[in-house]
Amino acid sequence: MIITRPREWERVRAQLADLGATRVFITGCGQCATVANTGGETEVLEAKERLESEGLVVTGWSVGEVACHSGGERLEVRKHAGEIESADAVLVLACGAGVQTMADATSKPVTPGLESVFLGNVVRHGVFEERCQMCGDCVLDRTAGICPVTTCPKGLLNGPCGGMWNGMCEVVTDRECTHVLIRRRLAEQGRAAKAEPLPPKDYSKKLKPGRVDIRAAHRASKSGDAS
Ligand code: SF4
Ligand code: SF4
Repeated sequence: MIITRPREWERVRAQLADLGATRVFITGCGQCATVANTGGETEVLEAKERLESEGLVVTGWSVGEVACHSGGERLEVRKHAGEIESADAVLVLACGAGVQTMADATSKPVTPGLESVFLGNVVRHGVFEERCQMCGDCVLDRTAGICPVTTCPKGLLNGPCGGMWNGMCEVVTDRECTHVLIRRRLAEQGRAAKAEPLPPKDYSKKLKPGRVDIRAAHRASKSGDAS
């Protein structure tokens, strides 16, 4: 899931002031931002109360199923058409993808209320860890399922670095070195002897902006089958 954290309230207020917004519609996200406790119903209502206590008018609010789904956000906009129409701006408590989806769905100025920080694993309720940076060229097959790109603070593919001490990371000092963990797990799985240094990474495989069209790929494969 996408991990978000609240943007400083003063900054959010400044954004609204820049837009000359005194009437605001607030929207959140029923998926990631709800799980992260940053943009679910509770947080949307907190933002509503806060804006109202500061003299702004909240024309309405919504928490759709998932803020980064174009069709879903268009539906939310249709459901709340009058409330959004009477607002000067839409405050979005969702990740950057959700903010942009809402910006595409309405002609009203849209402004973010959260910071998008990483793609996170849910370790337990309320605890999230970054395990993958979506590099487009996964090495987990060679590293016993532990990502050095993300979990080594230096992003070293091969290690440990010279700073490792007693198996611990020199940067995040309360954590074991990623490369110690990788070597240990490879050894436990009887794969250590065959492990070789990883070659330099081809970062050109990290497509920006990313786009995958599953339907086009499916059509292409079907036409290939037919020929
Ligand atoms: S190697 Fe790349 S794709 Fe694989 S887990 Fe790490 S960042 Fe993600
Ligand atoms: S000690 Fe290990 S995990 Fe920490 S920066 Fe060095 S190689 Fe990376």
